[in-house]
Amino acid sequence: MIKENKPNLSQDEIWREPVNLALFRKPQGKVHVIAERCKECNYCTNYCPNEVLERSTNTNSHGYHYVQVKAGKESSCVNCGMCQTICPDFAIFVTEVQ
Ligand code: SF4
Ligand code: SF4
Repeated sequence: MIKENKPNLSQDEIWREPVNLALFRKPQGKVHVIAERCKECNYCTNYCPNEVLERSTNTNSHGYHYVQVKAGKESSCVNCGMCQTICPDFAIFVTEVQ
């Protein structure tokens, strides 16, 4: 039987931190939604790693509940670009917050 040599840590504990971690800043993005282009497919809401996006209760002129940033999540976007990459209608993009 192979004995595992792993420390018994919870999921939130970091047991080895990069020595230069303080030199790096977590990226932050600002989300822009072109509401009229959104077709409510929810790809972006499903794949955003930080669960930043949700469907609005309002609709665009085509009757779709376009996406918006969740209340309280305005600073949670990490500018990963997943939403703008996956959107089939070019209805969402992000810009970096400096
Ligand atoms: S850029 Fe990434 S973190 Fe920001 S809203 Fe899009 S998928 Fe979410
Ligand atoms: S992926 Fe694009 S079309 Fe689909 S819900 Fe998101 S913004 Fe709207």
